[in-house]
Amino acid sequence: MNESMPFNDVDYTTLAERCRGDFPLLARQMHGRPLVYLDNAATSQKPQPVLDALQYYYRQQNANVHRGVYQLSEEATAAYEAARARVQRFINAAAMEEIIFLRGTTEAINLVAQAYARPRLQPGDEVLISAIEHHSNIVPWQIVCRQTGAQLRVIPVLDNGELDQSAFAELLGPRVRLLALTHVSNALGTINPIAEMIAQAHRQGIPVLIDGAQAVPHLRVDLQALDADFYAFSGHKLYGPTGIGALYGKRRILEAMEPWQGGGEMISQVSFEHTDYNQLPYKFEAGTPNIADAIGLAAALDYVDNLGLEVIAAHERQLLAYGTRALQQVPGLRLIGTAPDKAAILSFVMAQAHPHDISTILDRCGVAVRAGHHCAMPLMQRFGLAGTARASLALYNSRQDIDVLIEALHQVVRMFGDATTEGGQ
Ligand code: PLP
Repeated sequence: MNESMPFNDVDYTTLAERCRGDFPLLARQMHGRPLVYLDNAATSQKPQPVLDALQYYYRQQNANVHRGVYQLSEEATAAYEAARARVQRFINAAAMEEIIFLRGTTEAINLVAQAYARPRLQPGDEVLISAIEHHSNIVPWQIVCRQTGAQLRVIPVLDNGELDQSAFAELLGPRVRLLALTHVSNALGTINPIAEMIAQAHRQGIPVLIDGAQAVPHLRVDLQALDADFYAFSGHKLYGPTGIGALYGKRRILEAMEPWQGGGEMISQVSFEHTDYNQLPYKFEAGTPNIADAIGLAAALDYVDNLGLEVIAAHERQLLAYGTRALQQVPGLRLIGTAPDKAAILSFVMAQAHPHDISTILDRCGVAVRAGHHCAMPLMQRFGLAGTARASLALYNSRQDIDVLIEALHQVVRMFGDATTEGGQ
């Protein structure tokens, strides 16, 4: 690859060749075939530097953080806080205090629903979400609406998977207290124009939470430029470990919030009569944190940044275009989600076969794709589908992987026939 060439002119196929060897699991075989892993929107595989960081921590640094006045604990604390600084840099947050380590996106959204929204919502207030949300950005809002008497409102989706922007403008009424929106749809790949939507909400004084679970592996996120009030993501979709993720929150908002959970770490002074809470971000990190996986996440961010997120994005864009063209040639196959601005997610149905049958046949060919509702049941209902099959791409996927997928789909066609009418969904 010629580093001096502009991104659009570069052949990025070499990226996968260069990186594949960094991911030990990708050397596995499935049913006697080389594994073609295309379920990256569910979780990504982990490169050796992440595995090494986890091992190094447990072999050399393991101690509880913040409280120990001995060298090992100080080392563990330094590594844990360096991981926080790494996340801050990765998403360009203004301050380390704005980064709260949590289990992942789901936990982050629940924290905001309970610690931010619940005390502020009144009967008749509205929480605005969209029709393409993951359940983790639907159910926490349903719970808090039930607790407070607020109403859930939903921005509709157009047939191609884009949000209906004129409906959005109309829904942004005076009763809306929060907009909670996905950056990238896990089921369709749609990239929402969140910068404009945040600005629109802010013009009416409405704070915004962004679910970035599917965005951070594919797009450069700059929180100071975006100006989101909250931004949530998970480490495991970003080549990092499971069980770790982060919530970004603007400092002034986090400071005004009550804690979510009580316990150790989140206090500065406790008596039976009264407790003073710790400063940010510890106020929201009750209990022993997930130290090892935070360190593993930092290693994943180093890995991604060393390759260059822009390079990864360009590679995935090329692969998405290649995959889209190839899938459209498969008899009976229909892509679900054709927004012009899409991340590397290919959701589809076939006239001949149910998504679960597709997935099972693909698995016998070594190809791992997801089949089902993708934790977005209301979206599936909107499209009149029980589910889709979904191939989701990552930096280590290649054109050859797509070719194997297509060959496996032709196997589905051969088994179920060259149907011209849809069925089985
Ligand atoms: N939001 C989106 C868009 C997702 O795709 C996912 C996971 O698939 C989540 C939220 C939930 O992430 P986690 O299960 O890591 O909390």
